Amino acid sequence: MRTLAVTAMLATVVSCAPRSRPDFTPPAPLERCAQPSMGTLVEIGVAGQVVDFEGACVAVFAEFARLEGLFSEWRPESELGRVNASAGVVPVAVSPEVFAILERALEVSALSNGAFDPTFAAMWGLWTFGDDGVKTRPTAAAVESRRRLIDWRKVQLDRKASTVFLPEKGMKLGLGGIAKGYATDRAVAILRDRGVRDFSLKAGGELFVSGHRGTRLWRVGLQDPRGRDPFAAIDLTDSAFDTSGDYERFFFDEGERWHHIIDPATGYPARRSRSATVLAADALTADALDTALFVMGPAEGIALAERLPGVEAAIVGSDGRLYVTSGLVERLDVFHAPTNAP
Ligand code: ADP
Ligand code: MG
Repeated sequence: MRTLAVTAMLATVVSCAPRSRPDFTPPAPLERCAQPSMGTLVEIGVAGQVVDFEGACVAVFAEFARLEGLFSEWRPESELGRVNASAGVVPVAVSPEVFAILERALEVSALSNGAFDPTFAAMWGLWTFGDDGVKTRPTAAAVESRRRLIDWRKVQLDRKASTVFLPEKGMKLGLGGIAKGYATDRAVAILRDRGVRDFSLKAGGELFVSGHRGTRLWRVGLQDPRGRDPFAAIDLTDSAFDTSGDYERFFFDEGERWHHIIDPATGYPARRSRSATVLAADALTADALDTALFVMGPAEGIALAERLPGVEAAIVGSDGRLYVTSGLVERLDVFHAPTNAP
């Protein structure tokens, strides 16, 4: 009910003039640096003078590289690789850092009633998205046999021993839905430790903005999942703003879009949303929640975000319509409705 009411309000917002008087002074220029990491481009922009910006960039990229190694669950020698290889056999000791991130991941699994589930990784290899030119779709039987292995409640974390145990052979943990968020938070801490206050940090769908851009807040766009440009924008400071979308990694087959966000309940790409955007104080929360809300879809997803303090969300549903939490209705500048296409 609430979601419907909010959409109706937004519809009026779309059709009326902008609420705030537009500011025609150009935004402050940015000094930028960028480097590929974690399968995406990591970009830092600073507004104004920064002592040793190059050094700050090097430190951030080094941290991303370290975390890329830590989260490479498919590498047999990584901590998660060893946990996965020992599924159904023995618990594996992990570092306090990996243990803490797993605890956070399972918290979001509980919150989202399993929509976010790091054991989705049992599905690995069934879909390939053409990164190496190959696009494959599994048989229904293959999906079903792997889907049975997805269940975050079976993951055994022993805090005293700092061990992780996956009780069934074939179970796997994958932190792709949370890794870039965690790395972004680490990068934010590194920049602030170096005295950088006014910056934006982007890593694919993850974005964090800090302080100001010149005399203004940071103006951030909301990507149109079926269009080229943002269809809405918001002014932000000191916030994470993350989007998960079905347009990031996908292919079309038999008229359907097959993408990289798995609904643990079915084992197939989640079907309720085209994109889910989360505004939160930290990027790890926003990253885990955007994946969760994407899977849950507008009705359940917006209801969950409304319950969480400090969290706002905007979801483009599979019906092509925009659904937002009550806290965003007044804050989001919607230029036009999201483009409607398959
Ligand atoms: P990206 O910014 O890479 O698109 P997302 O936040 O959208 O990241 O998360 C997508 C990634 O999350 C997938 O590539 C996969 O690694 C992982 N993932 C997919 N489905 C789930 C799920 N149901 N729960 C947790 N993680 C998932
Ligand atoms: Mg995410």
